[in-house]
Amino acid sequence: MSSQAVQDYLKAIYALSGEGRPATTGEIADRLSVAPPSATNMVKRLARRGLAKHTPYRAVELTEAGRRLALTMVRRHRLLELYLERVLGLGVEQVHEEAERLEHALSDALETRLDDLLGHPASDPHGEPIPPRVRPAEAGRLPG
Ligand SMILES: [Zn+2]
Repeated sequence: MSSQAVQDYLKAIYALSGEGRPATTGEIADRLSVAPPSATNMVKRLARRGLAKHTPYRAVELTEAGRRLALTMVRRHRLLELYLERVLGLGVEQVHEEAERLEHALSDALETRLDDLLGHPASDPHGEPIPPRVRPAEAGRLPG
């Protein structure tokens, strides 16, 4: 399981549970365009790593560790979108796809640098809030 896949699953589960109830493996599969058995399999792996909790045939929720990693990815994604728009001059409609790729390569140091350069922005070019930094002592290592 690649760290990129782990990060994408954590983000998907985080986004789905933002709708006020736990995600199902079917919804996760839909969101990531994978077959439901693949999603179920991956969720079990996340559970073994202590990043998610899974009740068979029911809900998938992130653990605190999983939530912190998901928030880190959301933060990096949105900082990158703003950077791509404001500094590199990409159109708002272009920034999401590029940020989806770049977010997996961003280090803690570069994340800090981007945040400083952009003046600690509160929202991305789509108007979505940029979550505050998860402190390193809390975040642990990104898996992979
Ligand atoms: Zn985006």
